[in-house]
Amino acid sequence: MVNSDWRRCWMRVSGDRKEKKFYLLCGQWTGKEKEVGVHAGNCCRSPEWMSPDWLRIKRHGLWERRHRAFRMNLEPAEHSGMGGKAQDGGRGAPRRALPAALGLLLPMALLNALLYLCLAWVFIAPPPSAPASTHCPRGHFRMGQMKNCSPWLSCEELRTEVRPLKRVGEGAVKRVFLSEWKERKVALSRLTSLEMKDDFLHGLQMLKGLQSKHVVTLLGYCEDDNTILTEYYPLGSLSNLEATLNLSKYQNVNTWQRRLQMAVDYVSIIHYLHHSPLGTRVMCDSSDLPKTLSQYLLTSNFSLVVNDLDALPLVNRSSRTLVKCGHRELHGDFVAPEQLWPFGEDTPFDDDLMPSYDEKIDIWKIPDVSSFLLGHVEGSDMVRFHLFDIHKACKSQTPAERPTAQDILDTYKKVLNLLRDTVMSQTREML
Ligand code: ADP
Ligand code: MG
Ligand code: MG
Repeated sequence: MVNSDWRRCWMRVSGDRKEKKFYLLCGQWTGKEKEVGVHAGNCCRSPEWMSPDWLRIKRHGLWERRHRAFRMNLEPAEHSGMGGKAQDGGRGAPRRALPAALGLLLPMALLNALLYLCLAWVFIAPPPSAPASTHCPRGHFRMGQMKNCSPWLSCEELRTEVRPLKRVGEGAVKRVFLSEWKERKVALSRLTSLEMKDDFLHGLQMLKGLQSKHVVTLLGYCEDDNTILTEYYPLGSLSNLEATLNLSKYQNVNTWQRRLQMAVDYVSIIHYLHHSPLGTRVMCDSSDLPKTLSQYLLTSNFSLVVNDLDALPLVNRSSRTLVKCGHRELHGDFVAPEQLWPFGEDTPFDDDLMPSYDEKIDIWKIPDVSSFLLGHVEGSDMVRFHLFDIHKACKSQTPAERPTAQDILDTYKKVLNLLRDTVMSQTREML
């Protein structure tokens, strides 16, 4: 018997970007758009495709479609010139057909939602959110699961409550020990040599004044003993980044998205130093890439914090105070050109004659550090391509022509969002 309610007898499958419409009529694949009403009779003569049985759908070849984008809609009656008549004519059949169609639609919707969720989680997930604000009043700290802010540890507490376990790092100024404090892991830094005391104290002063999400958490210090206690970051410094990300347990993190996010973190730190509560600070302890990487730590969320603030001189434009990073001659193209001795090889280096410079030396170094952070995973080169212009500008010989950290940050975020959207829409098209 002919079912005159044609509305429930056909499906429209659309979904590819060109918005072509294909119609499945009674299990027969027409391959092009047709007038709905024309096929109403035909459709209703063989309504077996209305069955929720997926195998039948599969037999009609829908899954084999190249675009794999697959949606089904029941056409509303208003779209047809035959609407009222048809509706009146067959009340029994639609009631039977509707639950069957829902049976088809529901599993598909669930399947699609599940696939979206999985893909979003694997490819597009933002970094795990940081714990609730760790902001504490000055002189206090909170870390890990601590509920309340505690005052910085005193000399006495550092001496009696902190137990060094093993050495985990060392630089020119500090020797760093993984230590235990009240069953928590902490990092105890000890001055390596009294000659470096000024740098040590400068670093401590900066640590105290720059506590924020960009800087390692200070837990206490003792100037008499030349010790500083900070939060311990088990993933260590950025020097270990490749080794860490190559571990199989971190494969899902080793993506261009997460790596670009790290570059965003890095530039955010530079921006923070250039606009800090202690004025415009220059990250001087960065005369080559390995040295620079050793000053930043990787958090358990794979975000970055700066750890070593022992050489952060102040630029003060109003008093025309510029800086010099150290008193020795610098070489190589990692440092900015204005950091190099400008008077040729025949003139011996003289610190008094060496011109000073400003925070734009940090901008010069950003492309190299970011390129390291991006690494060589699938998509890294695509990101590099999008950052080409801004990185070129960072390498301007004239410092004033280089962009600000804010400009770079804006570009990085734009690229991150643009490429994420692209991946998202490609993913959707695949479904
Ligand atoms: P220096 O001032 O002598 O260069 P750093 O502060 O840079 O010393 O620390 C040296 C190294 O110790 C770092 O590169 C890092 O590997 C390790 N380190 C320092 N602080 C921590 C910490 N809080 N958690 C884990 N490792 C740390
Ligand atoms: Mg260091
Ligand atoms: Mg240092």
